Amino acid sequence: MPDDRPDTDAAERRGLSRRAMLSGTAMGAGALALGLLGTPGTASAASLKNGAWRNPALGYFPSGGHFGADRGGVPHAGQDVTNSTGTAVYAAAGGRAYRVGWGVLGGRTGNGIILFHGNSTYTYYGHLSRFRVSEGSRVSAGEWIGDMGTTGNVTGPHLHFETHTGGLNGIVDPVSFMRARGVDLGGGWSSIDPGASGEVVEAIQYLMRYRGTNLVIDGDYGPVSVSAVKSFQSSRGLYADGQVGPKTWPELVATVRSGRNGNHVKAAQTALNIRSAGLLIDGDCGSVTVSAIRSFQDVNRLVVDGVCGPLTWRALVG
Ligand SMILES: [Zn+2]
Repeated sequence: MPDDRPDTDAAERRGLSRRAMLSGTAMGAGALALGLLGTPGTASAASLKNGAWRNPALGYFPSGGHFGADRGGVPHAGQDVTNSTGTAVYAAAGGRAYRVGWGVLGGRTGNGIILFHGNSTYTYYGHLSRFRVSEGSRVSAGEWIGDMGTTGNVTGPHLHFETHTGGLNGIVDPVSFMRARGVDLGGGWSSIDPGASGEVVEAIQYLMRYRGTNLVIDGDYGPVSVSAVKSFQSSRGLYADGQVGPKTWPELVATVRSGRNGNHVKAAQTALNIRSAGLLIDGDCGSVTVSAIRSFQDVNRLVVDGVCGPLTWRALVG
């Protein structure tokens, strides 16, 4: 096993400060209540590409739910993602909750949240059953901001997701918008390019440690980390381009289950924290971490077994 770095890592400090903030809370089981406690996001997130964006919800694309679909003569302004009421809806990127409430982008999409990401870029989340952020609050990429629902004009529960550039009138296709930022809105693995930064990069760095390369955990996907990933790709017979994407992730992630210790556990804890788990990054898969895995699986309609395997990993880092 590769040895762990001392407690001075950025991710560990952040974990400790969250622990202090949430002192005494049963963090895993209490994850439902933690939507408001995510770390502040960066308002300039829109200027970043890969690594700064996250899939807003797990589900499937219903027929007729695509961008531009004919809705009685009006083109559909977003992409629908269908799942059951209560499915977690996450911030696609860091920023600020610009508007939260009924009809904030027209009553047809019911309870909605508009997030502002800087650079005249906005994302919108409609038909929500519950808000987990308040207007004006800062959000981080992947933070749990609301629950899927049926408010507004719907035939069943789904998320109506919109992406806007150049101001709120600049509607663009969410699928291509997110793909350009390394996110598969269909729920596949993300693609993290050299130069990316953020907590998902910290997770990659912990996984690389688990795979035997002792990287500094700084959340910066710079030359040293990229070189290590290229070597790892070569060793696995993959194309060594340094991009952590759909072919590299399955080789890189490791199953995390109760009682395990090590850098793969730290990676999972870091990834769970992107999704508002509020865990201490201690590398120990004890009851609190297992509970956080189960909560994440439950609100994303995955098999709830408390084991962070490939499907859970894909949802966490997607
Ligand atoms: Zn829609």
